[in-house]
Formats: sequence, C-alpha cells, structure tokens
Amino acid sequence: MRPWNFSAGPSALPLEVLQQAAAEMTDWHGCGMSVMEMSHRGKQFMQIAQEAQADLRELLAVPDDYSVMFMQGGATAENAILPLNLMGRGGALKADYVLSGIWSNKSHKEAQRYGDAAVAASSGAAAVIDGVTQDPWTWFPEPEQWRIRADAAYLHLCGNETIGGVEFATWPDMATLGVPNVPLVVDASSHFLSRPIDFSKAALVYAGAQKNAGPAGVTMVLARRDLIGHALPACPSAFDYANVDGANSMFNTPPTYAMYIAGLVFKWIKRQGGVAALEKANIAKSQALYAYLDGSDFYLARVHPKVRSRMNAPFFLRDESLNGEFLAQAESAGLMQLKGHKSVGGMRASIYNALPMEGVQALISFMQEFERRHG
Ligand code: PMP
Repeated sequence: MRPWNFSAGPSALPLEVLQQAAAEMTDWHGCGMSVMEMSHRGKQFMQIAQEAQADLRELLAVPDDYSVMFMQGGATAENAILPLNLMGRGGALKADYVLSGIWSNKSHKEAQRYGDAAVAASSGAAAVIDGVTQDPWTWFPEPEQWRIRADAAYLHLCGNETIGGVEFATWPDMATLGVPNVPLVVDASSHFLSRPIDFSKAALVYAGAQKNAGPAGVTMVLARRDLIGHALPACPSAFDYANVDGANSMFNTPPTYAMYIAGLVFKWIKRQGGVAALEKANIAKSQALYAYLDGSDFYLARVHPKVRSRMNAPFFLRDESLNGEFLAQAESAGLMQLKGHKSVGGMRASIYNALPMEGVQALISFMQEFERRHG
C-alpha cells in the first residue's frame, strides 16, 4: 500500500490517474506516441485539450460567457498577469486586495508593481471574535468591513490560504457591498474543484493545478469575457488574456502533459460523482479531523472555526518539543509530509480530493496513539 500523503502541493493524485498515465505513457490510445511527444496542434492532443476544457466547464458549471484558459507560470505568475490584464480597465490603474495570509499578501505585493494596489481589509492583527482572541491571519475580515473603491478595476481575495489554513468561501455579492462594477477575483489555487464555484459572485477565478487538479505546470483561469481585452501595453503577449482566449489556450505551446493529467483528474472527479460529491466527502473529512483536534487537550487548532479550511488543517502539539518525534513516527506509520510551513510552525495536514477519509482516519488513529503515549 502507498503511504498517505498530506503534502500541501504538489500533492497526492488519485492512484487511478497515475496508473492510467503509466499505462498510456509510451503509446497513447494506440497512436504510437506518448502525449509528451505529440504536437499540440495535432488531432490527438486537440482532442485531449478539448475534452479537458469541456470536462472542467461541466464540473464547475462554468457559464458560457466565461472563458476557460490553461496557462503557464503558476498562481505566482498569475498574480502579475492579473493586474497586467485587468488594472487598465477603466483607466484608473487601481485594484483592491483583501489580505488574509501569505498568499494574498504575495498577490498584493506583486500587483503594486503595476499600479495602485490598496488594502481593502486585512486579518493581519489579532481580533476578538465571539469573545475569543484570534491570532493574526487566523480569521477573515467580514465583507461589510472591506473598503472597496468604486473605481477599482477589481477586488482580489484568496479563497483558501494554503499555509494558514483559512478558507473563505462565502463570497459576497459585490452589488450588495455597494460596488456592482468592481469584479471579484479569487485565487482559488488550493480549494479549486473541492467545492462548487458561484460564478454569480466571482468574475475571475484562477488556480494552479498542483493541489486538486493535476501536476504543477498548468494554471487554470476562468474569466468573464468582458474582463478580457484590456491588457496594459507592457503585458507579455503570451500572458494577454485576449491572445490566450482568442487562440483557445494555444497561442503558444501549452503545458501539454500537465493538461493531459489534469484532464484525467477531471474524468476521475466525474466518476466520483462530480464536485458536489467531493465537497460532501471534504466536509466529512475535515469535520472528523477538526472534531478530533477540538476534543483533545494535546493538540490545538488555531484558525477560527468559521473559516477553517477543508483542505489544509494546520495544527500544533501543545508541547512543541515533541514535534520532531511526532513527524518521525508519523512517517514510520506511513503518514507523509505533515510538517507545517516554516512561517506557521507545527503541523499541517492537507487533505485534498485525492486523500480519502481512510487517510484522515489513519492520521487521527496515529494522533490518538501518539497522545496516549505522551499525554
Ligand atoms: N496561491 C496559493 C493559494 C497557493 O497555495 C500557491 C502555492 N502553494 C500559490 C498561490 C503559488 O503557486 P505557484 O507556486 O504555482 O506559483
């Protein structure tokens, strides 16, 4: 049996997908070529790309007036590609950012290179919520408190802070916040395909693949078409949404193998019953883990319960001197990559789509046993 892999990304992929890719590695569907060896404009790869795009559209019920683009550069490049494409819309060169952790801070910093990127709200200070003091970056600012400029080209937030384990998925309607003309943009990298997306709220969603959707190397951008075609003159042509959308993600050579694997993952998700079925499983998995953490005096989860991530659960041993022993024994028990990000410390269990309840239960059993021996 393979070990349970709790990596935050690149992370576990469904075994069925890996096995299919292995079986097709040297000869895809009898054509005598590996997908890696095919022209991106040949009929075989065109079929792979079209199916991947259609399956993604179907899985997320992407509206017809949204483009589905496959790009390169990861979410980090997208942090620049986004302002380069959107900030010039309306001419104000302004955008507003909600800061909720490391990833949204990086997005904001990158955007400052291109224009006036302001902070609409931040959870970077401690806050008292429901009578309890929350540490910085363990809560999410209420939308009613966001300071959004009416002439901002967009408002950006990170839907799931992979490092902090803060997930904000009850996206507000920008009209009810008094800024109907400001499109909501979401970095959904680490909860993409783990739950449905409400496109009546989000005008543009982007996500690197290497958590729930496939290997690193492809970024998915789902963008309302009226946001396309406003790139700043300095925007590289390969990163201009008008070029990428206009050429159906074939403006230049796309990351063909990563798209192929993502396509296999999309088909796997369909076989699981789609995104709604995975969401149900993700709720059950995360609830089991957080319920165990909350019921224990030995471990501690610090994120406010309302915004705890279903995908990434950071947790701490109250006696941090046991961290090394915990990680070594976890690895011997087949529970891999549980070390928390260095900026947060402690542990982090990433429990993406491909990590089943069985894996979460194996983790909880190990933690119980570790607690029994050291508690
Ligand atoms: N945003 C989020 C939420 C992420 O989790 C990550 C990667 N872990 C990134 C952006 C950056 O992605 P990449 O390294 O692919 O550029």
